[in-house]
Amino acid sequence: MESSYRERVCNLTFERGKMQQQGNTRRRFLQAAAGGGLGLFASPFLTPQARAAAENAGPMRITKIEAVRFRSDLRMQGVSPNWTWVRLHTDTGLVGTGESYPGYDAHAGALKELSRFLLGKDPTKIERLWQDLFYQISYRPWGGAETRMLTAINIAQWDLLGKAAGLPIYKLLGGKSQEKLLVYNTMNGWAINGMMEYEAPEKITEFLLGRGIKAIKIYPYDRGPVNAFARHGGTFITQAELKQSLDIVKRIRKTAGDEMEIALDLSSKWNLPCTLQIAKSLEPYGILYLEDPMLPDNLEAYARLAAETSIPVCISERLATRFRFREMFELRAVDVVMYDVTWCGGISEAKKISDMADTYKIPTSPHTGGGPILWYASIHTASSLNNFYIMESVYHLYNDLYPHFLRNVPRPVDGYVTAPEAPGLGLELREEAFKNGDAVIETIAAL
Ligand SMILES: [Mg+2]
Repeated sequence: MESSYRERVCNLTFERGKMQQQGNTRRRFLQAAAGGGLGLFASPFLTPQARAAAENAGPMRITKIEAVRFRSDLRMQGVSPNWTWVRLHTDTGLVGTGESYPGYDAHAGALKELSRFLLGKDPTKIERLWQDLFYQISYRPWGGAETRMLTAINIAQWDLLGKAAGLPIYKLLGGKSQEKLLVYNTMNGWAINGMMEYEAPEKITEFLLGRGIKAIKIYPYDRGPVNAFARHGGTFITQAELKQSLDIVKRIRKTAGDEMEIALDLSSKWNLPCTLQIAKSLEPYGILYLEDPMLPDNLEAYARLAAETSIPVCISERLATRFRFREMFELRAVDVVMYDVTWCGGISEAKKISDMADTYKIPTSPHTGGGPILWYASIHTASSLNNFYIMESVYHLYNDLYPHFLRNVPRPVDGYVTAPEAPGLGLELREEAFKNGDAVIETIAAL
């Protein structure tokens, strides 16, 4: 009895020791996490390889916040650099850059408001800072200047984490799910070699095909000779206008046959009956997708459109945060999801929206008709997506405007673009733009 009692005591002591050991291990892990290490791993996207690199990438502190404005009278092919860049300086000497657009003054004001929640914080805690800033701006309508600065800050944080880890952002997002990204070219009143798509659709089609670009996006309902929107304000369209608007589609088809995919953007200018009429008239032409026909302020109207037309419906660059996109998916209001990485909440939010879309078998087609960081950030994000579809590109932006500020602008080759391999976003800035007044840096806040 006595020995058995002693054995029981010994066993109990041993078990208690084991539990204490486990408790200590767990406590040490939690202490290490609280010390900053776990902040790096808050992102659900880190692969083991990226996690190992990121482990040595922090913590760091934000010491200065800058905004960059661009010369408004600088025009290239008729377009100005109307972006705001956000630069986060850190005590490591690393600087991360993000972007939103259009405009500057409202952005700089919002950035000033947000800066008190940023200074001294660890930018490698990407999820934590997004949530904290989002809570601050949740008292104001979402999607305005505050959301756009939250977005630019998030992109700058990913740039910083990539630089600190020595990895391109796409690797931190899980690596390349897409080796290269299929692009279409948008003709949004942006001429190619002086030619508008509605003036010379055959020449534009041949120009793009000659570069291996086999998809185009056009705007016949609010641009060019028909422009039914200008006549009726989006509330009415005649049978004649419906037929005349098809002219450019037919001419592209005649030139390229089935070698060119055709998407149409309706600029969110129409009501539901007009949209339904337009969609029905386009159905015989094998359309890639119909983008933003109506404002995305009533997703049930979109659900009806998606149910009634065979053309895939694509929305919407105008929406921000995963919360708005959730409604869209649940209502079956979309076939192809579009967001703008510099408007929707940043790289973190874009990845989440796409992953959510993937569970509904909905692919992603990012909007990129803005500044150069939008172009780089979209390429990194889209490269990591399982449900990538096709990405917007604009010839004169990557060919003329972006190279004025950056040396290594990714350009499509044979219709595909690939992600830069340098750490972070991989931007190679032309420093001369910051000396000649084309880009002006303003300090928003500093420690
Ligand atoms: Mg659009």
